[in-house]
Amino acid sequence: MEEVLKDIRFSYQPHLLKFRFDAGTSRGVLKDKTTFLISALSIQKPGMTGWGEAAPLPKLSIDDVADFEEVLSEICGKLSGSTIIGSEQAILEWAKSHISESYPSIRFAFETALLDLLHGGKKMIFDTPFYNSGQPLPINGLIWMGEKGFMLDQIDKKLAEGYSCIKMKIGAIDFGQECELLAYIRKQYSAQRVILRVDANGAFSPKEALDKLKILSEYDLHSIEQPIRQGQVKEMKSLCTTTLLPIALDEELIGIHDFKDKKKLLETIMPQYIILKPTLVGGIASSREWIALASAMEIGWWMTSALESNVGLNAIAQFTSTYDIVLPQGLGTGQLYHNNFDSPLRIERGEIKYGIGDWGI
Ligand SMILES: [Mg+2]
Repeated sequence: MEEVLKDIRFSYQPHLLKFRFDAGTSRGVLKDKTTFLISALSIQKPGMTGWGEAAPLPKLSIDDVADFEEVLSEICGKLSGSTIIGSEQAILEWAKSHISESYPSIRFAFETALLDLLHGGKKMIFDTPFYNSGQPLPINGLIWMGEKGFMLDQIDKKLAEGYSCIKMKIGAIDFGQECELLAYIRKQYSAQRVILRVDANGAFSPKEALDKLKILSEYDLHSIEQPIRQGQVKEMKSLCTTTLLPIALDEELIGIHDFKDKKKLLETIMPQYIILKPTLVGGIASSREWIALASAMEIGWWMTSALESNVGLNAIAQFTSTYDIVLPQGLGTGQLYHNNFDSPLRIERGEIKYGIGDWGI
C-alpha cells in the first residue's frame, strides 16, 4: 500500500545570512542576504521535520519581490492540512500543481522539505551514495570579482587547495587585466591540469562579444557563461554557432517554465552547455525537464547553487548526485557565510561530500 503523508503543516522562518567578505556580483556588492527555511511536519511522521530553503537571488530571481514573505506565509497557510501521496514522483507533481511557477524558489523549498520528510526528516533528499556513503561530487572553485590583487589571492588559494576546475567571474574589471589573470593561471597549469571556466554574467555587448570570445579562447578555456545579456536570442544563437569557445546559458533560462518554451529555446540557440540553478529555474522537477531536453540534444549541463545556505546546497548536491556526474559542478558556496547552518557537507580538494557531522538545524 502506498504511503500517504497526512495533514501536513508548513511553516517558515527567515534567516539573515552574513557574508564573510563583500561579495561582488554582477548585480553589485552583497553584504548579507535573507533566506527562508520552510519546515514540513505530518502526523504520519511523529517527531520528524522536513526542511527546505527558499532563497530568491537578489535582483535576479523572478521571485525576488517586495512582498515575498507575505506570499510565502500565505502559501504555508493555504497548503497546510494537505495530504500527499508519499512518493518522490507524487511530491514533485504536487509541488508543481500547488505552487505557482512565478515563485521558483518556493516551489523548490517545498519539494525539498517534503522529500526530506518522506525520508524521515534526516536531511536525506535523495537516497544516493552521495548521502549514504560519502561519494563526492567534483566542483569548481569560484573566484569572486574584485580588484586584481584580491582575485589573484583567491586563485592562488584555490589552486593550493587542489581544485582542478576554477571558475572566474569576468566583465567587472578591465578586460586586459582579466586576461592577465587567466594568463597567470595558464602559465602555471595547462588545460589538462586545471579546467578554466569564465562567467561574464552578460557583460559583453553583442557587437564586441565575438572578438572577446576569440581572445579568451587563447587561454584554453572550458566555457564561458552568458557572454551577453539574456533575452538576445538571435545574437546568442549566432555566437553559439560561430564561437571557438563553448558557451553556457545561465540567466537565459530564468523565467522559462513551459516544456515547449524550454525546448524551443534550446533548439533555437543550440548552446554548448546549460547551467541549472534549481532555486531560479523552479526546483527539482523543472531542472529535470531541462536536463532531459538538453541530453536529448547533446547539450552538456552542470548544476550550480545560488547563494543558498547549507540547507539549499545540501538539496542541490543530493539532487545532482542522482545523475552520473563527470563535469565539475558549481556547488562550492557553503563557506561564504559567517552564520551558515552547521552541516556534514565538506569540501576537500575540489570535491564536495556528505561527511560526518551534525546539522545546526
Ligand atoms: Mg553564471
